[in-house]
Amino acid sequence: MTTPPTKLPRTPDAQDRCPCLSGNTYGECCGRYLSGDSAAPTAEALMRSRFTAFATGDGDYLLRSWWPATRPVDLELDEDMRWYRLDILDTVRGKVGDDDGVVTFRAYYRHPDGAGQQQETSRFRHRDGHWYYVDALALD
Ligand SMILES: [Zn+2]
Repeated sequence: MTTPPTKLPRTPDAQDRCPCLSGNTYGECCGRYLSGDSAAPTAEALMRSRFTAFATGDGDYLLRSWWPATRPVDLELDEDMRWYRLDILDTVRGKVGDDDGVVTFRAYYRHPDGAGQQQETSRFRHRDGHWYYVDALALD
């Protein structure tokens, strides 16, 4: 009996290396945020968990962690996209106790049409115990 191949990677096991490459296991890193067991404590942690959601194809988490006013109605993820590396380049505020934060990151992907990277400076807001992705600042 064969399992039909799923295009998107499956949810990692708790002991697997976290896709955000923090060095922690999935269970001790983004896994607990994607599962809803706990809330990302900082803007960077939310950024990492959203990268992991892209890497594992978790569109629900992406929508859930999006600021309501800027959240798209729905989200179609490219099933051929493989996000495999995240570098956090800079963070401004976004710590425990802050109301907002800014995270600059570079994310790397492979795709049948070619590999590439995306650099973005994202804005985050904290409300009612949760961090949310708001939008991306325009590039200079
Ligand atoms: Zn992680």
